[in-house]
Amino acid sequence: MLHSSVLEAVSKASKDYEGYGLSLMEMSHRSKPVKDMVSETESLARELLNVPDNYHILFLQGGASLQFAMVPINLLDMTMTADYTDTGSWSAKAIKEARLYGNVNIVCSSKDSVYNHIPKQLNQSDDAVYLHITSNNTIYGTQWHEFPKLINDGYLVADMSSDIFSRSIDISQFGLIYAGAQKNIGPAGVTMVIVRDEILDKVSREIPTMMKYRTHIDKGSMFNTPPVISIFAVNRTLFWLKSVGGIDFIEKKNKLKAKKLYDEIDNNELFSSPINVEDRSMMNIPFVFTQKGKDESSFLSFCKDRGLETLKGHRSVGGFRASIYNAMPDEGVDALIQAMKEYDPN
Ligand code: PMP
Repeated sequence: MLHSSVLEAVSKASKDYEGYGLSLMEMSHRSKPVKDMVSETESLARELLNVPDNYHILFLQGGASLQFAMVPINLLDMTMTADYTDTGSWSAKAIKEARLYGNVNIVCSSKDSVYNHIPKQLNQSDDAVYLHITSNNTIYGTQWHEFPKLINDGYLVADMSSDIFSRSIDISQFGLIYAGAQKNIGPAGVTMVIVRDEILDKVSREIPTMMKYRTHIDKGSMFNTPPVISIFAVNRTLFWLKSVGGIDFIEKKNKLKAKKLYDEIDNNELFSSPINVEDRSMMNIPFVFTQKGKDESSFLSFCKDRGLETLKGHRSVGGFRASIYNAMPDEGVDALIQAMKEYDPN
């Protein structure tokens, strides 16, 4: 979900951006109003996440999926090793790309238990350049509640696509964070990257211009035409987040929202959670029928009739999944809980 104020602002800007007499989609990205909007978006992100000065914030295209490759292309040489955690399908995709550009050491995997937990034992390399984690596993509904401690001189790299801006984090623990916008901060089309300056320029390979972080840093995310309307939606989302009380406020709210839904799953005999209690995600909450073989489509249509959409579990795991990102109001969670209480499968 995006907050209604964001949808309204985007809809208005699509017709006439701030009285300029043309749509934001028709304006040059080199025009002052657009440049100002992009730099304001960066400032909002910097302020909300407390991003230190030696980190750059970039707005790129290609989704988090392109970052799976951009990260190792920019940070890993064929002679170097990177540590990767395997905690879900997105981690596995990141691993596949990294293997093309250097040595990859898988420090842990929960694949054999259908990714239902975050492993606690990590076999880190002595010389890894970085340790990659997927901070929240969107499909399986697990989340790193405590980030791993490194045993070497490396740094953490995180795919935060599905939990960025949902909780407070200490950015200085990370060398690089990337996130496709389309969960907590806007529509698809823009990917946020937060990168510490000094980790760059350490690999010897030639990097295609568009794939090089330095290109986008030097040009303030304006090397080529940026996805202006998507960035504007991010701008309005971050503005909304700031106006309601920022990360501290939303983190508390997210915890309460998730807790009441997990309480219902745990107390309602019809449903159960396949996920290890201590690793449960605050953003994506999968649940299944306790009794196998029950008709899932009937519960989904029962929910749909009440205006509850997008509850089908990911195709790779089945069951149900409630994604309760920042903009999901309490009422949305309450309505689902009510539906779970009232559903009678017989
Ligand atoms: N990483 C995670 C954790 C995701 O949830 C997703 C998308 N669901 C991706 C990566 C892929 O993102 P994109 O579609 O922006 O490439």
